[in-house]
Amino acid sequence: MPALTFPEARATVLREVRAHRVLPAIETVALDDCQARVLAEDIGADRDYPPFNRSARDGFAVRSGDMPGRVRVIGEVRAGERFEGSVKPGEAVEIMTGAPVPDGADAVVMVEHCTRHGDGFIETDRTAPAGSNISPAACEARSGVVVLPRGTRIDYTAVAWLATTGHATVAVHARPRVAIVATGDEIVQVAETPAAHQIRNSNAHSLAAQVKRAGGEPVILPIAKDDKDATARLIEQGLESDLLLLSGGVSAGKYDFVESALAACGAQFHFDRVLIQPGQPLVFGAAAGKFFFGLPGNPVSTMVTFELFARAALDLLSGANDAPLPLTMARLTRPFRHRAGLTRILPARISCTEVTPVDWQGSGDVVSLCRANAFLVADAGQPEYAAGDPIPVLLK
Ligand code: AMP
Ligand code: MG
Repeated sequence: MPALTFPEARATVLREVRAHRVLPAIETVALDDCQARVLAEDIGADRDYPPFNRSARDGFAVRSGDMPGRVRVIGEVRAGERFEGSVKPGEAVEIMTGAPVPDGADAVVMVEHCTRHGDGFIETDRTAPAGSNISPAACEARSGVVVLPRGTRIDYTAVAWLATTGHATVAVHARPRVAIVATGDEIVQVAETPAAHQIRNSNAHSLAAQVKRAGGEPVILPIAKDDKDATARLIEQGLESDLLLLSGGVSAGKYDFVESALAACGAQFHFDRVLIQPGQPLVFGAAAGKFFFGLPGNPVSTMVTFELFARAALDLLSGANDAPLPLTMARLTRPFRHRAGLTRILPARISCTEVTPVDWQGSGDVVSLCRANAFLVADAGQPEYAAGDPIPVLLK
């Protein structure tokens, strides 16, 4: 099977999951519990927004033709009220931000731009073109227009729209269950004290945290020994969930059994190598109608390949329309070089628009990741970067 480039591999994941995903069930949650969930209903405008011509300023509602000039204040209108009369030539109504603009007026002049005279008149030397400081009815959304389509991941701005449109509860998709199987004879549980030649299982737990953050429900299964049958049994159990993640056992070592165990479970493979580092031996496919990833076992590789690939699959399996990869650009604070041919995803610290690589000791180096707040993403075709060069950065 040919190795894929980073963009090819991501496109493969998106294409396959979009084509074959089964959308999760729908459930109802309270408005204040819906953050990061995926909408299972369209949320439209229940009326025009704004529902009336709304003043954007504290000031005076006037007729634009009277400005600049001196006009008589015939009343006031506060937010939450309606002015019953209308503004005639030579007149103004004092108005507060958020209040409906009275009939007859077609502009608002800011209170800061007016002089108040003791005789009930105000004066300004400013022009006030028609429409100034007024948000016209329906300028934001016409009644019935869909603002948040189903499949939108709910963030705090979506919460504002849900609240605005009267949704005390909202229909969302159930969280996909994500089975996690760590493999390796050397791996012991976190609560155990490892012998000198053993290490604790960090991957299952970092993956569970990543799954939760991405809106999934992690199901940590027992550690699989480096044995084909034992691994296959856990794979079968994992395929009962909506997505299966394995860590380790996908390299070319004599005791790397994950691919053969997957094959024994009837797996179809979409790729098993991606031209990235860390994370080159990355396996993606489907078995028993479920998708799986065989993530390389080095902890940094596991975490990085989850963010780059598995997270996209999880987004789509959550019912989301999009699987964004939040890359941004920053300028290197110092020169950076790497061997061409692989896309490199390396720990870095970003501050405002500047990024500095963090020293790291290879794909097993969790410590360097803890010191980083981002990954720089060096292009496979660009081996050298000068200080000040822009480079893509993936926020952690
Ligand atoms: P593998 O991909 O199985 O060859 O493992 C690569 C490296 O990652 C080895 O040094 C493993 O000990 C380490 N490793 C594998 N699985 C885990 C895990 N669950 N937690 C921490 N380290 C792991
Ligand atoms: Mg192993």
